[in-house]
Amino acid sequence: MNVSKADSRNPRPAHFSRTHLADCPRCRAPFDLLAACWCDCRRGHPSKICPSCRQCLCSHPDYGRPSSWLEAPAALRLAGFEKLFIYYL
Ligand SMILES: [Zn+2]
Ligand SMILES: [Zn+2]
Repeated sequence: MNVSKADSRNPRPAHFSRTHLADCPRCRAPFDLLAACWCDCRRGHPSKICPSCRQCLCSHPDYGRPSSWLEAPAALRLAGFEKLFIYYL
């Protein structure tokens, strides 16, 4: 993990300068997790809506599996992630 590599020349606060690129498990398009909107399904942990296919992951077959979840890194917890879905790594 290299998330602690801080760039002191970056004037923005650290938690606003982060991006977390992930590939959408549905359409394979890469998108920035931190910029994507949360879905409003409210059946457990919410998921992010992919800007390409406009779908969240709540109905993904692996989404309800405890083994599909990891502890979220600090940068993502600041952005509202309690846990991190492994497909978002
Ligand atoms: Zn997608
Ligand atoms: Zn959802």
